[in-house]
Amino acid sequence: MLGGCADRGEPETEISGPTMGTYYSVKVVGVHPELSEASLREGIESVLQRAVSLISTYDPASELSRLNRNPSTDWIAITSPLHEVIEEGQWVSALTDGAFDVTVGPLVNLWGFGPARTDDQVPSRQAITEALARVGFRKLHLRDHPTAVRKDRGDVYIDLSALGEGYGADRIADYLDGQGVGDYMAAVAGAIRVKGHNAHGEPWAIAIEEPIPGRRSVRRVIRVTDTGLSTSGDYRNFFEKDGRRYSHEIDPHTGWPTEHRLGSVTVVSDTAMRADALATALLVMGEGKGAALADAERLAAYFIVHDAKGLSDHYTAGLEHLLCGSRGQGNPDPCGPR
Ligand code: FAD
Repeated sequence: MLGGCADRGEPETEISGPTMGTYYSVKVVGVHPELSEASLREGIESVLQRAVSLISTYDPASELSRLNRNPSTDWIAITSPLHEVIEEGQWVSALTDGAFDVTVGPLVNLWGFGPARTDDQVPSRQAITEALARVGFRKLHLRDHPTAVRKDRGDVYIDLSALGEGYGADRIADYLDGQGVGDYMAAVAGAIRVKGHNAHGEPWAIAIEEPIPGRRSVRRVIRVTDTGLSTSGDYRNFFEKDGRRYSHEIDPHTGWPTEHRLGSVTVVSDTAMRADALATALLVMGEGKGAALADAERLAAYFIVHDAKGLSDHYTAGLEHLLCGSRGQGNPDPCGPR
């Protein structure tokens, strides 16, 4: 029987734990007699384990790792779930002219942000050039029936970390839907799926933090329901060398970590996987190109930019009405009267 009581609201149960080198956190509202906390945890961790065994580059036995080791340039059969994730990545690559690129793996690993940790060194120009030759989403082809992938070069190496957390959050959402849960928030690190309302009958409040390394402070709160969202930033996973910061967001066109003023991007989209990929893509594009694409494609996106004043915000019309404290388009504040 679920349900630790949230103060004065509906009963609420929170489950969390490690996954994908980070953590997951799930909040379920209401009483579900057939769902014990233990069975909920078991169900969630089982879908996450399946996701890891599908798309992890950190698990050498995963389907993706076996595909990456396969040197063939013929069609290689893959499962439809793996096909679905790669297809989503290719869609975002086409939308962003390759700013997002799942074949970026050789560069991610070269810069030390992959499974094999290195000692925070700036690679040689030659090593970057060699890795770049293996990168490019147009070197990867998908076949729908039967599901298969073909690599133009046998050493193309796929990295799905930029949409994997979102994939995990979506699988938790599918599991909860299957259990008949109507109100939940499912997060894998910064990739989130929400449905229904929180214990107080309100849309879920999601805090967007300031993109400042070593600091946990909330910049804005957005209120959402029945959607996916994700935040990507350059302030957690980086190293500094000679006064310059090298983040894990790699520009597949140059082979270098992005260097611009954009600290973080939050995207709201139908699935957490799409929001996760789009947030990375817009972050790699930078505040100018990223904001222009977000506006042109009517994406719901929120950019936090480092500038002379410290931090400034830019959000698209599609996101403004979700921000607490904003009365965009004449809408009432989504967080209620101040
Ligand atoms: P995001 O912006 O969401 O993604 C950034 C990541 O995407 C980078 O780390 C890089 O891998 C990749 N990337 C960089 N530039 C681009 C680009 N231009 N286009 C596309 N992709 C790009 N980490 C561990 O330390 N230990 C683990 O055991 C572990 N297991 C994992 C298992 C799975 C299934 C997945 C998906 C990831 C795992 N990770 C693990 C990686 C860790 O979760 C990632 O660092 C994290 O997923 C990155 O998410 P983010 O929100 O920090 O950044």
